[in-house]
Amino acid sequence: MRKPFICGNWKMNKNVEEAEAMITALKDKVKGVENVEMGICPTALCLTTVKEAAQGSDIVTGAENIYWKDSGAYTGEISAKMLADSNIEYTIVGHSERREIFGESDYEVNKKVLSALEHGVKPIVCVGETLEERKADQIEAKVNFQVDSALAGLSEDEVEDVVIAYEPIWAIGTGETASAEEANRVIGIIRKNIRKEYPEAADKIRIQYGGSVKPHNVEEIMAQEEIDGALVGGASLAADSFSEIILKTA
Ligand code: PEP
Repeated sequence: MRKPFICGNWKMNKNVEEAEAMITALKDKVKGVENVEMGICPTALCLTTVKEAAQGSDIVTGAENIYWKDSGAYTGEISAKMLADSNIEYTIVGHSERREIFGESDYEVNKKVLSALEHGVKPIVCVGETLEERKADQIEAKVNFQVDSALAGLSEDEVEDVVIAYEPIWAIGTGETASAEEANRVIGIIRKNIRKEYPEAADKIRIQYGGSVKPHNVEEIMAQEEIDGALVGGASLAADSFSEIILKTA
């Protein structure tokens, strides 16, 4: 049985004060939820604020990105080792905004996944097709290539600790969502592909859907068999909407 994981991605939003206030409000609203893992990925500046504010709750904390070296002359970067030293549980890797705006490659995504796991930080690996690729019937080829690249060199045990977020790029921040059935279909394809190399981990790895998940559509999405949670952007910025998403999943 895979425990659903609802995780917020704050992107480049919220200062320290706002982060603390939101987590304090969220904690109260999701008190007692046990059957859903809940997480927030804030900016690097707010990681320890969120971690501290979340104490006494089951809300976990994740970074939005890492670099794969442990330390050194890499101005502007933070490492998985630094996250581990601060007891940060997760990191997003390969979000489409990083791939598109910052030119992050599948090679880099794989290096980041390996580094995260080496330090006991669980990676949330984002994959998904553009609208053009969808229209050209390339969804399967695209997502399977991204997943295979991200998981290259991992043991079966390590794959179990990875979370995949299937995020069709055209659905992120647009108000457009893949239909719940379509998201379920693509996530089924991803799991089947993982099974070829990792037969045991395929049933354990959690695969989220991401792309305009809101309180009004989360129940339909979470009712799908293959979908193990959601990576939530816009709707994770307010305690009301994010807690509603969690409570409707629980
Ligand atoms: C995201 O940024 O990962 C995301 C899914 O954003 P939104 O929910 O706003 O579409």
